[in-house]
Amino acid sequence: MRITVLKEADPAESRVALVPESVKKLVSMKATVVIERGAGLSASIDDAEYEAAGAELSADRAGLLGRADLLLGVNRPTDADLAQLRAGAVVVAFLRPLDEPQKMRLLLEKGLTAFAVELIPRTTRAQSMDGLSSMATIVGYKAVLLAAERLPRLFPMLTTAAGTVPPAKVLVLGAGVAGLQAIATARRLGAMVEGFDVRAAAGEAVRSLGAKFLEVDLGGLQAEDAGGYAREVTEEVMDRSRELIARQAKVTDAIITSAQVPGKRAPILVTAEAVGGMKRGSVIVDLAGSTGGNCALTKPGEVVEVNGVTILAPLNLASTVPLHASQLYSRNLTSLLSIMIREGEIHLDFSDDIIGPTCAVHQGQITEARLRTALAES
Ligand code: NAD
Repeated sequence: MRITVLKEADPAESRVALVPESVKKLVSMKATVVIERGAGLSASIDDAEYEAAGAELSADRAGLLGRADLLLGVNRPTDADLAQLRAGAVVVAFLRPLDEPQKMRLLLEKGLTAFAVELIPRTTRAQSMDGLSSMATIVGYKAVLLAAERLPRLFPMLTTAAGTVPPAKVLVLGAGVAGLQAIATARRLGAMVEGFDVRAAAGEAVRSLGAKFLEVDLGGLQAEDAGGYAREVTEEVMDRSRELIARQAKVTDAIITSAQVPGKRAPILVTAEAVGGMKRGSVIVDLAGSTGGNCALTKPGEVVEVNGVTILAPLNLASTVPLHASQLYSRNLTSLLSIMIREGEIHLDFSDDIIGPTCAVHQGQITEARLRTALAES
């Protein structure tokens, strides 16, 4: 079986799907691993490292695609690349099947089998395969560095011969994987940190990182579903949340937002009035830009300045730490492949509680119910 990794087609993408350490593991599982020449360069991995790990290298992209049994990617391959795969080939990547269902059509027409990393269940058994969590960890860390770099103040309290400067005040909205990493990173830099989430369970995690938990009155509402994700909350709870955040924003130097509800537009937690109340020089890093943003003034992918407050909404922060992002993602993929490969061949057991739910399309048939609904409605 040939496992193929290409250089990512998007020139703005610096990650690569497999790192040499994983190539070694997959070769020991009797797979042949073929890497496009230069695929790892933007993540600071050169071809010689892949060769030393046992990979074959080739510069013939079309040839690589035509002979691939299993194509691993970070992002969904382009239509031009997908068109060159053989029917029956298997694709594994962040495919965005529920965000961009239309773009899954070519995979269906070509008779491919596609696994979407974002569909991997958030269960204990699948934890080592959870690419979303790996990338969210990196995003939360990098968001704080962006805020620190923009802020006209220091993060830590410093006592110097010229006097003392107070620590920066940071507010993190949404305490999922990215938010908790943002809290931990801001604390490590010496800031005073507050965290906010509608899931009561998040309070304990926030406090364990040395931050204060801002609580909103949920009026008896259970804001967490059975899977541990947030539900959409009532308009009253949203209003109370926005008031609380606006009050806090007046004394906050940096706000990092990461609040999301699966399948919905991101909740607006920071209003234009709240931004208006912030101190000149303050910074907002909105990590929910891809689902519309948590701040009313966010422009996804852009930097906006309003009355001296800078609002950033970077869309692919994980790619700005490409070596470690690739390493974690590559380990996630290798862990997933370990339950798909037997004696060097692909063996897909769809009754498996990870393989079944992660598969979006199998040999040209839709296997994901929400994708079927989305395509039927369009
Ligand atoms: P996410 O990206 O879906 O959302 C980020 C955070 O935003 C969540 O904490 C959510 O509660 C919060 N949020 C949503 N609406 C909000 C609002 N109106 N106001 C304030 N906050 C709001 O979350 P995620 O990082 O993917 O994690 C979601 C859940 O899954 C968490 O409970 C996490 O612990 C759990 N999880 C479990 C596993 C596992 O068991 N393997 C792995 C990763 C995450």
